[in-house]
Amino acid sequence: MNTIFGPIHSRRFGVSLGIDLSSSTKQCNFDCLYCELAPMQAITQQHEITPIATIITDLTHALTQHPNIDVITLTANGEPTMYPYLEELIDQIDTVKGDKQTLILSNSAYLSNSKVFQALLKLDQVKLSLDAATSEVFYKIDRPAEGINIEDIISSIEKFSHVYRGKLFIEILFVRGLNDTCEEIAALNKALLPISCERIDIGTIDRPPAYPVEGLNFTELFELSHYFDTTLPIHIVSRTHAQAIPSYFTSNEILTTLDKRPLTEDDINALFDDTSKKRFQILLDEEKISTIERSNIIFYLPSKNNARKRPKLPKKS
Ligand code: SF4
Repeated sequence: MNTIFGPIHSRRFGVSLGIDLSSSTKQCNFDCLYCELAPMQAITQQHEITPIATIITDLTHALTQHPNIDVITLTANGEPTMYPYLEELIDQIDTVKGDKQTLILSNSAYLSNSKVFQALLKLDQVKLSLDAATSEVFYKIDRPAEGINIEDIISSIEKFSHVYRGKLFIEILFVRGLNDTCEEIAALNKALLPISCERIDIGTIDRPPAYPVEGLNFTELFELSHYFDTTLPIHIVSRTHAQAIPSYFTSNEILTTLDKRPLTEDDINALFDDTSKKRFQILLDEEKISTIERSNIIFYLPSKNNARKRPKLPKKS
């Protein structure tokens, strides 16, 4: 079975060639309610392991077929950090990747393992999931294998964020009635504030989930984003923008809304009605609104706000 898939165009990470580190079957240390793969009991180690040589042969061939990609993404039918030869694999990818970036999409569970921690430091970009910050909600949503706890995950992410020199992204996926409460967001805020990262992507279920759970619509996600500290670099990621009802905003309301939370073009199209979009354009032409770019995503915010250099990021120690 070929271990490479794509290229896939991702707005967040660019054009990506994926490496599936568990191409024959699902192998994961979580059994998330929202997983787009089939439900399966969480396990602690891979039983079916693809040889490094196979992956490198497949990748080298794929790179000749698709020379214009931006990023090589380590992922899996499950959790890629469960691959037992991860660091060696990353070292070998580095010898064939040329000018491409390397990225991993991880659920963060094994970051407290020193071998995984060291391996991830070698990547150009790392995306770590953090769906919950309290044990109760973490066990309900992510259903981890025995021995995995949220306290270790949070402290490992914080530690990693202060020594890692690449681009770190955090992702939170919201499930209706589980991690979308004020209490859980307060706990997430507390966990996120000391973490130094490029962006915090918040999203929801947009593919059929493994278990009968529901996502939020864009308007709900947008409202929920206001509960996060304004210094956190929150970015709403959702394919359910269409469910939002475009509304009327005065010029002042547009500036106030952007002051609370910088928005992307998709957010603006989803939230503003046609009149408000024209007002937004006027404010942009008058330079009352400006833009900042954070790893491929353009955000609009009031120029006054931009001068205050938001969003602030904790300094790397
Ligand atoms: S971590 Fe990813 S692959 Fe594993 S169960 Fe959760 S969503 Fe599925």
